[in-house]
Amino acid sequence: MVTDYVDWLRREGRIVIVGASLAGLRAAETLRAEGFAGELTLIGDEPYDPYDRPPLSKSVLLGRADPLHTELPRRREIDAKWRLGVPAAGLDMTVKRVRLADGDEVEYDRLLIATGVRARPWPKESEAQLDGVLLLRTRNDAAALYRRLKAGPHRVLIIGAGFSGSEIASACREMGLAVTVAERAGAPLVGALGGVIGGVSAELYHENGVDLRTGVMVTGLEGDSVGRVKAAHLSDESVVETDLVVVSLGSTRNTEWLTGSGLGAGPRGIACDAGCRAFDFRGIVTDDVFVAGDVARSPHALFGYQFLSLEHWGNAVAQAEIAAHNMISPSSDRRPHLWVPAFWSSQFGVNIKSVGVPPMGEQIMITQGSLADRRFVGVYGYQGRVIAAVSFDNTRWLEFYQREIERGAPFPVEYPTVDRRPEGRQPVPADFPDPSLPTHGPGVTLSGYSPTDRQLVFTPAH
Ligand SMILES: Cc1cc2nc3c(=O)[nH]c(=O)nc-3n(C[C@H](O)[C@H](O)[C@H](O)COP(=O)(O)OP(=O)(O)OC[C@H]3O[C@@H](n4cnc5c(N)ncnc54)[C@H](O)[C@@H]3O)c2cc1C
Repeated sequence: MVTDYVDWLRREGRIVIVGASLAGLRAAETLRAEGFAGELTLIGDEPYDPYDRPPLSKSVLLGRADPLHTELPRRREIDAKWRLGVPAAGLDMTVKRVRLADGDEVEYDRLLIATGVRARPWPKESEAQLDGVLLLRTRNDAAALYRRLKAGPHRVLIIGAGFSGSEIASACREMGLAVTVAERAGAPLVGALGGVIGGVSAELYHENGVDLRTGVMVTGLEGDSVGRVKAAHLSDESVVETDLVVVSLGSTRNTEWLTGSGLGAGPRGIACDAGCRAFDFRGIVTDDVFVAGDVARSPHALFGYQFLSLEHWGNAVAQAEIAAHNMISPSSDRRPHLWVPAFWSSQFGVNIKSVGVPPMGEQIMITQGSLADRRFVGVYGYQGRVIAAVSFDNTRWLEFYQREIERGAPFPVEYPTVDRRPEGRQPVPADFPDPSLPTHGPGVTLSGYSPTDRQLVFTPAH
């Protein structure tokens, strides 16, 4: 009987994946690689085969890659039905059916939700519609932005200095364009990496000729008589004349289509357990609805079981693989998604990488290199433990710090390193914004796990 069930999980039934991008594709490939022989359907609202997003704010803007040719490499044949160009519009979990916007319905036995996030638009609708006000999330966005940049705008205004805004500013400067960046916080990258690293980033901005305005908000965009953007008004009463505005205010999770479905889905994503099974709105875990990628929020033992929402490429891949495995495995064979967060970015010629969850850091300590050289490793501490690390042009150390995070190594760090360590190096406050800000991530603590117990393995075998 049990063998029949296990056999059925692997060989038969219908699996539907909503969201045909990085997480959706990698999940589909894993399902087939692990022997799923049933019916597989991928539903995606974009009209394209799955493509890669990181190049969109990097090589594509510089004209080094064509936005229409950033397809994700395929790892294997997946023999699936593709429903592209049509969004899923509703979910009925009682009869196990996904409703599409064109009226069709697709039945499933098991469902994977991988609908990701979208760029948060400029909040004033009439201003958002002005010609020359752009976003960057999709391939179409990147193609439109590239066209505008190539046409040589008088001045580009970027609203928001997170990773995306910073990469766009960097590309603009590389193209020789005048660029202003307006940021509400005191420095760029502050929400992701804190004020100490934000200070280094601000120096990079200045050295590269960006007009950086921090501690200000854009209060309004102004159009000309034919509806083209011509200026932005800032909270310090200054006015920036601009003919191209890129709104880079973070993202919104694509969960609206699940309204009324009974799933625990909302603006912060879809909560799931470490095995990627979605919670329903009562907090009871479902057994046939799974979540992966940017849209998911899942608890992580290393980070106080906080439900982490990660917009990281590597997380989408790792979580999709775990979700797919668990979808076709009996409970005894299921695995937890315990990926240690890792992120990369390149801007102003600097390669930035992080591991762990920097925004949880209370303090930061520069352990290799120096801030002045812009080549360093900063290690973040939380309650006496190493919780994260960031490197600027110093990647080789990050794997080591990942292991330190996994084993709950003490902070401040004390071991000698082969790198030169200037005297007097002390931890200082990491200087993150108020944790109650919505961008800081939800803090739900379920129970405690001490990494020093060493009971969990965080690095997958492959
Ligand atoms: C410009 C840019 C640069 C980036 N750079 C980096 C980087 O340097 N490093 C890094 O680690 N990460 C980076 N990322 C993040 C990385 O690309 C994401 O983490 C990754 O794309 C997440 O994959 P996903 O499949 O979960 O979501 P997505 O890629 O967002 O895919 C979700 C898909 O679902 C579709 N969808 C949404 N709603 C529906 C619906 N109702 N029905 C059907 N389909 C739907 C969406 O349109 C989309 O195609 C970058 C992202 C962007 C946009």
